Amino acid sequence: MSKKKKENNKNLWLYIALVIVLIIVLAGLIVLYINNQKKEDENTLAYTDLIKELSYGNIEKIEMTVGSTTIKVKQKNEEEEKTAIVPSTESFMTLIQEKVQEGIEFKLNQKPRSIFAQIPSFIISFLPTLIMLALFVMIFKMQGLGEKGKVYDDTERKTKVKFDDVAGLDEEKGELVEIVDFLKRPEKFTKMGAKIPKGVLLYGKPGTGKTLIAKAIAGEADVPFISMSGSEFIEMFAGLGASRVRKLFEKARKLAPCIVFIDEIDAIGSRRTSNSGAETENNQTLNQLLVEMDGFSSEETIIVLAATNRPEMLDKALLRPGRFDRQITIPTPDLNGRLEILKIHSKDKRISDNVNLESIAEDTAGFTGAELANILNEAAIIATKEKHEDIENEDIEEAVKKVTVGLEKRARVISDKDKKLTAYHEAGHAVVSRYLPTQTNVKEVSIIPRGVAGGYTMYKSDEDKYYISKTEMQEKLIALLGGRAAEKLVLDDISTGASNDIEVATQVARDMVTKYGMSDTLGPIDFQGKEPYEMQMFGENIGDKIGQEVKKLIDTAYENAQELLKQHRDKLDKIAETLLQKEKINEEDFNKFFE
Ligand code: ADP
Ligand code: MG
Ligand code: ZN
Repeated sequence: MSKKKKENNKNLWLYIALVIVLIIVLAGLIVLYINNQKKEDENTLAYTDLIKELSYGNIEKIEMTVGSTTIKVKQKNEEEEKTAIVPSTESFMTLIQEKVQEGIEFKLNQKPRSIFAQIPSFIISFLPTLIMLALFVMIFKMQGLGEKGKVYDDTERKTKVKFDDVAGLDEEKGELVEIVDFLKRPEKFTKMGAKIPKGVLLYGKPGTGKTLIAKAIAGEADVPFISMSGSEFIEMFAGLGASRVRKLFEKARKLAPCIVFIDEIDAIGSRRTSNSGAETENNQTLNQLLVEMDGFSSEETIIVLAATNRPEMLDKALLRPGRFDRQITIPTPDLNGRLEILKIHSKDKRISDNVNLESIAEDTAGFTGAELANILNEAAIIATKEKHEDIENEDIEEAVKKVTVGLEKRARVISDKDKKLTAYHEAGHAVVSRYLPTQTNVKEVSIIPRGVAGGYTMYKSDEDKYYISKTEMQEKLIALLGGRAAEKLVLDDISTGASNDIEVATQVARDMVTKYGMSDTLGPIDFQGKEPYEMQMFGENIGDKIGQEVKKLIDTAYENAQELLKQHRDKLDKIAETLLQKEKINEEDFNKFFE
């Protein structure tokens, strides 16, 4: 059997299975529907009957819901309430106004009784037909999948995104201008004998603007932008991943010159190591991608852009010449980049003149473009809720907290015991940080719950730093464990409230030992992501030794935190007491404790 035929057969079985599943689902729906109908017949009152009963004075109670024409009525001689559908809520209300004055009980609900009450009943009665139709369309489409060139979407939209919409990233844009040029005037390059690049890989954290910049390239070159996400390839049924890749490139050939964008390429292009089921499936998809990329000639101006945030996961085959031989790192924005991003995203918003975008940029080190855009959007929502004329500084500050720690939950009831624990925990972080030279200043301490946190200590944002020293990391560990240390010291008990601190601290300590070579005993060796046989090089018990070193770092930090708190117990008590009274301490008030 040829490969092609085999795949078609495979697909056929798939369709059959799918159809059977759909038929079962449909049958179930029909049974449900018929049952419902029966019930409904017994319990509904026709509109004409309702009017009659009203005029006879047989109605005892009417219940309506805003925005719904389905009402509930209780008749005098009937046990159960019945539902009725009125032609219009307004006219029905005028109609019964008199009756209500005469003494019929009337209730108007603000929220719909159920979501179904809002769906007009005719839609519900058409549901089975709609499902049938959808089914036919699906089967039709699925059949088209196996055959060549059938299901096309030729009306691929061009994107309107331009380089100007991408803030910061000037160097990266500079590198990518060339690609725009290739797409616009390929002959200029081919005449010179230059080979047009086929693939560009964009590395960067989620939300740094990879998709945005890929779209901007297409927008600048005025070519179609065809995109697909790596996870879409693998979430499909077996065998379909590879065929989807084939189809994607078929489409690209028709639309060339164009951009093909593959998001989350690590989902299909992760290193081919083992031979487990899922892996083999990925391999087929990956192989197909490699075949396609090797296949198109330089006359077909197709540029494949791919994005990932896990470059170390990628199969080396993807990076060979003629494939993704260009790699561009998209960094998280620096101070200036953040300012530019904030400027772009505040353009379409009503921002008050009092708002200082520079200071927001300073306070948001480490935030990605997506997070910054999100903050401004949240600020707009908060300003609307607070009925402000424009978006004010306080709205933005609240938005930053909402995005970083979660929503303030003032309504949550907290016992006095928990409050005291949280107050000491947060005061512990704050006091310890204050005495650590490398740790940034405290901006706010609060015991008002936010998101999942019972309280929080916010620090002023770090400078944009490229390197972090060992001392700084050690002090970071002390600050992280300050909360737990205070619990232990004051209440002589410890709580689950420190779980996140412990998680972060363990990660920092592990990185210090295995990634940054900061352990004196083990030296500057990278132990991360090594296979077991590679680890054996460093001796039999290397795992134990690493564990001991990590533990030593944590233990020392915990002891230091407790030591600092013992020394400054007066401050700790004062701040915790103030927190219990006021719930929140800002930067200025916090600093006063130390004058
Ligand atoms: P990624 O693909 O890297 O995960 P996206 O490109 O999807 O990130 O970015 C998500 C959103 O964040 C964008 O739609 C945009 O609103 C905003 N954003 C991210 N980076 C930038 C940037 N450099 N300039 C302007 N907006 C940005
Ligand atoms: Mg993206
Ligand atoms: Zn904590």
